Amino acid sequence: MPMTYDVAIVGAGIFGLSTAYELARRGHSVLAIDRFGSGHPATSSTGASRSIRIAYDHPFYVELALEAIESWRRLEAETGQTILHLTGQVDLGPQSKLEELTRTVRAAGAAIEEMDAAELRRRFPEIALSRGEIGLFQRQAGTVIANAGMAALLRAAKKAGVTYLAPERVVRFEPGATVTLYTEGRHFEAKQVIVAAGPWAKDLLDGVGLPLPLAPAVAQVTFLDAPALVDRPGIAEWRPNGETGIYGHPVPGIGYKIAFDSGAAGWHPDVEEWEPDPAEEQRLLGWLARRMPSVVPKVSRTQRHPWTMTPDVDFIVDRWGQFIVAGGCSGHAFKFGPALGRLVADIVEGGEAPSVTRLGRPALRQSAPSPTAPITR
Ligand SMILES: Cc1cc2nc3c(=O)[nH]c(=O)nc-3n(C[C@H](O)[C@H](O)[C@H](O)COP(=O)(O)OP(=O)(O)OC[C@H]3O[C@@H](n4cnc5c(N)ncnc54)[C@H](O)[C@@H]3O)c2cc1C
Repeated sequence: MPMTYDVAIVGAGIFGLSTAYELARRGHSVLAIDRFGSGHPATSSTGASRSIRIAYDHPFYVELALEAIESWRRLEAETGQTILHLTGQVDLGPQSKLEELTRTVRAAGAAIEEMDAAELRRRFPEIALSRGEIGLFQRQAGTVIANAGMAALLRAAKKAGVTYLAPERVVRFEPGATVTLYTEGRHFEAKQVIVAAGPWAKDLLDGVGLPLPLAPAVAQVTFLDAPALVDRPGIAEWRPNGETGIYGHPVPGIGYKIAFDSGAAGWHPDVEEWEPDPAEEQRLLGWLARRMPSVVPKVSRTQRHPWTMTPDVDFIVDRWGQFIVAGGCSGHAFKFGPALGRLVADIVEGGEAPSVTRLGRPALRQSAPSPTAPITR
C-alpha cells in the first residue's frame, strides 16, 4: 500500500514551503511537490530580495509582520543563514495614509516615528522632500534576503522530515476518503491537500470546482549598482486615491532595488514573457532622479516575475473541504514567510481562518480582481 501523507502541499513557494516546515515541526507527515523547484525564476518567490515592513493599515498584517520578524530570526538561528537586513523604512505620502499606519502600528504596541521635513532631511539626506512634506520611520523594516530565506526554509523543511519532490507537476486531484494527487507519471494519497500554487492556483482550483477571483500579473523590479545605499533604509512612497506608489530597499551585495507597487500587465503563468519593459524602467529612474537625486542611476539589472492579485489585495488562506487554499498573495506576501506557515498549519489542525483571509468574505464575490491594481495594503 502506498503511504498516505497527513498533508500534501502543491507548490513550494513561500506559502507552501513555510507551511511544509511548520507542519513537519508539529509532527505531521508532509509531502511538498513543486513543478519547477522552490524559488524558480518563473515563480513569485524568486530573486535576491523583498521589502519587509510592519506598517500596514490593518492590524492583521501588523501583527503578522511582527510575528514574521521573530520567526525569520529563529530560522536564522536554526540554520546559521542571514536572512533579514533591517535598516528601517521611510514612508512618505498622503497624511491620511500616514496617520492610519501610525495608528495601527502603535495599537499593536510597536514603534513608529513621525517626522517633519527638517528631521527627515537631517536623518535621511539622500531623500529629496517637497516643502513641508512629512513622513514616518519604522525601524522594524528593510529587506528579506529572499533567496537566502527560501534556501534556509528548504533545508529546515527537509531536516524536519518533509518529503520534497521537484521538479514534478500535479495535474489533477481526485477527492475521496483521502485525496489522490496525480502528477505526470504517478500518484500520491493525502488526508488533506494545501493548494499553494501561486499564479497557477486558479487553474488547479477550477479543476476541483472552486473558481476563485485570482488574477496573475507580471511585475518589474530594477536593481541599482549603489553600494553606498546598502545600509540605508527602504522607502515607500504612497500615492493618493489608491494610485500606484513606489518602493525601494537595500540589497546586500548589489545596492538598492526600486519598483512600482503594481503589476505591469496581466499574465498567464504558462506564457513566459520575461523581457523587461525599458519604458517602465525609464519612468522609475525619473522618480529616482526627483526623489533621490544624489544616487547615480546605474542599473545593474531589471527583472520581471509573477504575482497573483485578489479583488481586495488580501490573501486567501482558508479551508474548503479536504483542501486548504494558501495564496492570492497580491504582491506582498513574501515578508511574512514563516508566519504564513504558522497561519496555514493552524487551519490544517482545525483552526478558523482570520476574517481577512476567508474564502467567504464579500470582496471575493463582489468584484473582479485587476492584475494591474496597486498594492494599497
Ligand atoms: C516583482 C515582485 C516583487 C515583490 N516584492 C515584494 C516585496 O517587496 N515584499 C513582499 O512581501 N512581497 C513581495 N512580492 C510578493 C511575493 O514575492 C509573493 O507574494 C510570494 O512570493 C507568493 O508566494 P506563493 O507561494 O504564493 O507563490 P509562488 O512562489 O509562485 O509559489 C507557487 C509554487 O507552486 C508551484 N506550482 C504551481 N503549479 C504547480 C503544480 N501544478 N504542481 C506542482 N507545483 C506547482 C510553482 O512552481 C511555485 O514554486 C513581490 C513579488 C514580485 C513578483
